[in-house]
Amino acid sequence: MPNAADNPAETAAILTGLIRDVPDFPKPGILFKDITPLLESPDGFRTCIAALGERVRAHGVTALVAIESRGFIFGAPLATYLGLPLIVVRKPGKLPRRTESVSYQLEYGEDRLEVHADAIVAGSRYAIIDDVLATGGTAEAVATLIARLGGIVACAAFPIELAFLAGRARLSAPVESLVVFG
Ligand code: AMP
Repeated sequence: MPNAADNPAETAAILTGLIRDVPDFPKPGILFKDITPLLESPDGFRTCIAALGERVRAHGVTALVAIESRGFIFGAPLATYLGLPLIVVRKPGKLPRRTESVSYQLEYGEDRLEVHADAIVAGSRYAIIDDVLATGGTAEAVATLIARLGGIVACAAFPIELAFLAGRARLSAPVESLVVFG
């Protein structure tokens, strides 16, 4: 398969064919975007990482900030592809050093995410990485975390964007996505 990193329409078509819609998962009314066929396709996954990598490269970031857990699947190969450090944002209690944390609203209740406080350097530029941009609440919380530690959110990048949920509007940083639904 040719490297489609510089052909957005071709990349979107390849990825669309490798993302499976699962209705009513994990609960009724949700159309779940299943990325496992993409992960099971070495050519498709390579195309995805190269395309997203080139989009992120254009923002001149110093490190990637990937969100647990599916953000790690994309963040790790992207960091290797770009030759950049990978910073992990994790669920509470997982990181061993001093952390900064942020709480954010879920549909029901609240959740919290943490990052090592010394991982974010004031004035440095970061790209937030996750699998899907839906309502944008998770990425917005991570942007808050980075900003609180003095970092600059240069972009947020996702293989998949659910445009009908308007997550992009909640982020003040530029958003990069490869496949836009809706
Ligand atoms: P949000 O905070 O609403 O942007 O959603 C963030 C997280 O929820 C993403 O990291 C996704 O992993 C997951 N997510 C939300 N909606 C979907 C969906 N329709 N299909 C797959 N994952 C989703």
